[in-house]
Amino acid sequence: MARRKKIYEGKAKTLYEGPEPGTIVQYFKDDATAFNAQKKDVIEGKGVLNNLLSEYFMLGLINIGVPTHFLRRLNMREQLVRSCEIIPLEVIVRNFAAGSLATRLGIEEGTQLPRPVVEYCYKDDKLGDPLVTEEHIAAFGWASQQDMDDILSLALRVNDFLSGVMYGVGIKLIDFKIEIGRVFDGDFQRLVVADEISPDSCRLWDIETGQKLDKDVFRRDLGSLTDAYTEVARRLGVLPKGTAPAKPTLIN
Ligand code: C5P
Repeated sequence: MARRKKIYEGKAKTLYEGPEPGTIVQYFKDDATAFNAQKKDVIEGKGVLNNLLSEYFMLGLINIGVPTHFLRRLNMREQLVRSCEIIPLEVIVRNFAAGSLATRLGIEEGTQLPRPVVEYCYKDDKLGDPLVTEEHIAAFGWASQQDMDDILSLALRVNDFLSGVMYGVGIKLIDFKIEIGRVFDGDFQRLVVADEISPDSCRLWDIETGQKLDKDVFRRDLGSLTDAYTEVARRLGVLPKGTAPAKPTLIN
């Protein structure tokens, strides 16, 4: 496929101009980063797995009526998405304490929270994506009150969907991060789930064993990240037919 004009290169994905106006090609790289890119590696096959998994989650969301930017997967590493204006917030939903919440509030990892807790971080690598309140979001004009109502509703719908899907394959959804984009139809603005949903941006623990099947495997040096993501993909049935379950040969 002819190379397109590069629009943006992020830590895990590169964005190219899409074939039609208003579309973007998301290319999933094998690069893994953690702790604001202080820890880096290339994990062979990660991009392929995240492309397939994100497609699976986005299609599931679309099927239950949650709007997303996803249009279609193009190949093993690329998907076509609607171009949108990303709201500069990381929207985090937590069902169980882990990671920064466990550290910040001194709650033991794995403790079930009384209800899903939604947090917002300001997307800025230089600042390390700091936690912000709705007061900051309103004061600095990152999103309106109507946007915030819609974002909360989207985040909780994604949480219910993802929790259920993961529970069905014996995995507990501890927490996740999504990004929200604005798409414009004439003067009308809609919010959609954008970016990606993959084990890079979720915490997923096996219900029986508590084994971590997400990016914490890389962050905390717990073993093979490819094996963990392959296990999630295998349980969800998203690996291409004929792929060996244990260690797939991942084609570019
Ligand atoms: O590190 P923390 O506990 O705040 O992360 C909460 C959730 O958000 C985790 O699932 C993590 O993978 C995700 N996250 C992310 N990108 C970030 C920060 C957090 O995907 N920049």
